[in-house]
Amino acid sequence: MLAVAKFGGSSLSCATQFEKVKNIVLGDPSRQIVVCSALGKRESSDTKITDLLYILHAHLKYSVPYEDIWKMLYDRFTGVQNDLNISYDIKADLDLLKSELNKNISQDYLVSRGEYLTSKLMAAYIGYQFVDAKDLLRYSYDGKLDEVLTEKNVKLAFSKYGKIVVPGFYGAYPNNSIKLLSRGGSDVTGAILSKCLNVTVYENWTDVSGILAADPRIVKSPRAIKEITYAELRELSYMGASVLHEETVFPVQELNIPINLKNTNEPSNPGTMIRNVCTDETNIVTGLAGKKDFLSFNISKDHMSNEVGFMRKALSIFEKYDVSIEHVPSGIDSFSVVVNEASVDKCKYELVTDLKRDLDCNVTVETDLALVAIVGRNMAKRSGVCATIFQALGKEKINVKLLAQGPSELNIIIGVASSDYEKTLQALYEDLVK
Ligand code: ASP
Repeated sequence: MLAVAKFGGSSLSCATQFEKVKNIVLGDPSRQIVVCSALGKRESSDTKITDLLYILHAHLKYSVPYEDIWKMLYDRFTGVQNDLNISYDIKADLDLLKSELNKNISQDYLVSRGEYLTSKLMAAYIGYQFVDAKDLLRYSYDGKLDEVLTEKNVKLAFSKYGKIVVPGFYGAYPNNSIKLLSRGGSDVTGAILSKCLNVTVYENWTDVSGILAADPRIVKSPRAIKEITYAELRELSYMGASVLHEETVFPVQELNIPINLKNTNEPSNPGTMIRNVCTDETNIVTGLAGKKDFLSFNISKDHMSNEVGFMRKALSIFEKYDVSIEHVPSGIDSFSVVVNEASVDKCKYELVTDLKRDLDCNVTVETDLALVAIVGRNMAKRSGVCATIFQALGKEKINVKLLAQGPSELNIIIGVASSDYEKTLQALYEDLVK
């Protein structure tokens, strides 16, 4: 058994959280590779270290006095070190960083110091070897991961030290300058290390006990999802559920390494297991997700169904304006093209004009459309799911404007008026998911 354990910012916000992480890591000998984010928020009004570093960079760039921000950073790091009596001399590293601050300091370098210093603290605290991510994750100048070199570096470091702490969120270009990943990128670091070492499980520790079956801001106390496939997760994430950084799944999915989402504040809870194939059949629907702000171009023309190539021509107009299409529900002589409202902000009227001119058809535009995804691997080849959906919505007098189901039967998409969005999720949760 070998595990990568990645801890997010809220798991590393103060000395108490550091203690929890230590207990978790040392409590299971398979947790030999630890990935740390930067110190996160202690309470909701707090500022994450990463955000402070971005603000610090802006102050430096525009030559605005930055002493207050520096003091906040300094106090957060030295506070953890003092509270836990960690032997690592973080003050020396902070002084060094202070001496490097100038108008032209690289943003990637400065921001990466959040993960760097947090990981050095953690390594000293748990007695693991600190290994800098810049010596492991290597990127070409166009931002592509050099997989071969990275794997070689990771394997070498692991065989040399055995138990390591690696900062998340960054790597390095060929000239050794720091390359920062996009926000939330420590998840990706964990996935890359998991792949390089072909670990048994990639543990991703946060402050929730796994993925919830619906948005808790809309549905009261939704249940947690025990098991979910990568494909289901992709559907839910695409439709708005924010779980992991988008690029996290690809490296581990390739080797069929499961991801276990766990809660640092409740380690005994099994959390959510994400894997290629799941066997649990307890729930027909795995989860719900949804988004507002869609728009539909409703296109109709008499005898359209006899005109070969009509739909291709219509869709090519969307392509011309570089608009990505979400769904194309169709009737016989009509169909709708559903897109994200923001994506046609600048070309909505041109699109309508082109469609009418080139295809001699009627076009109406319907705004304020919300989409809800009902996701579940166990829905495939099962009768009665749609009956329950329509019954639940009918009871609440919710009008269904659109309905789409892909061939995998993994996901049913429902379009409703934006004003019905919350009610739709609540009704579906009650009758279908709970
Ligand atoms: N600290 C970085 C962020 O806040 C990266 C991470 O936490 O994954 O985005």
